[in-house]
Amino acid sequence: MRDIKQLHPQLQLKIAELQLLCKKKGLNIGIGECLRTVAEQDALYAQGRTKPGNKVTNAKGSTYSSQHQWGIAFDFYRNDGKGAYNEAGDFFGRVGALAKQIGLGWGGDWKSPVDKPHIYLKEWGSTTSALRSAYGTPDKFMRTWDKTILNYRIGGTYRTTKPCYLRLSPAGKKLDYKNAPDHIKAKSTKKGGKVSFRKGAAFTLMEIANKSGNLWGRMKTGYWVPLHYNSALRAIICK
Ligand SMILES: [Zn+2]
Repeated sequence: MRDIKQLHPQLQLKIAELQLLCKKKGLNIGIGECLRTVAEQDALYAQGRTKPGNKVTNAKGSTYSSQHQWGIAFDFYRNDGKGAYNEAGDFFGRVGALAKQIGLGWGGDWKSPVDKPHIYLKEWGSTTSALRSAYGTPDKFMRTWDKTILNYRIGGTYRTTKPCYLRLSPAGKKLDYKNAPDHIKAKSTKKGGKVSFRKGAAFTLMEIANKSGNLWGRMKTGYWVPLHYNSALRAIICK
C-alpha cells in the first residue's frame, strides 16, 4: 500500500525531510510501497519461488520479517519521467546517501537482496528480529507509536511561545552566546552566558526528535529548540 499515513510517525516526518532534501538536489522521487499486509508480503515471497519473476524478498508474510510489515520502511521510485527504476546518474545511490545523512537506513547497503529503493528507520537494526522479540506482532508495536509528532510540519515556519535556550543537539548542550552567529543573536537575549531565543522568534522546522518524551526541533540554522516540553507546547506554527 502507498499510504504514507500508515507508517511510523517518525518515518512520516523523515519522508517529508527527505523529500525536501531531494528536491534541493534536483532528485525527483515518488513514494511507493509503504505498509504491507501478510497477504501482500506472501505474494511477494512467492515471486521467484512458486511464481515467475526474480526473487524480491527473503521475508515470508506470516513471520513478520519484512520491515514493511512493521511500518518502519518505504520504497521510493524515480519520478522525473526517465523510468521509475532507471539507475542512470546513480539516482538511487544519491537518494540513499541523503537518507543516510538524515539518520535513515538504506537497503542499497544490504547484500542479499540489494534493495536500492528501500529506506527504513534503523532504530531497531537492519532486520526485524529486535521488533519481533520485543513486540511479537506489528499490531502491538503500532499501539506504542507517538502520533503527536504528526502535529508538526517539516519545512513549516514556527514561533516560540516562551523564551528558550538553543541547544547543539536534542536536549543537549546550550549554545554559548559568544559562539552564536549574528542572525541568532538578533533574535535572542543573553542569559547566564547562553543564548536565550526570544518569545515569538520565528524559525523553520527541519527535523523532530523525541528525547524522554520531550520533542525537540532542529531549525534551519542547525540549532535545536524545544517544541513540546514538560507536556507544554513551546512552539506554534505560523506558516
Ligand atoms: Zn522495501
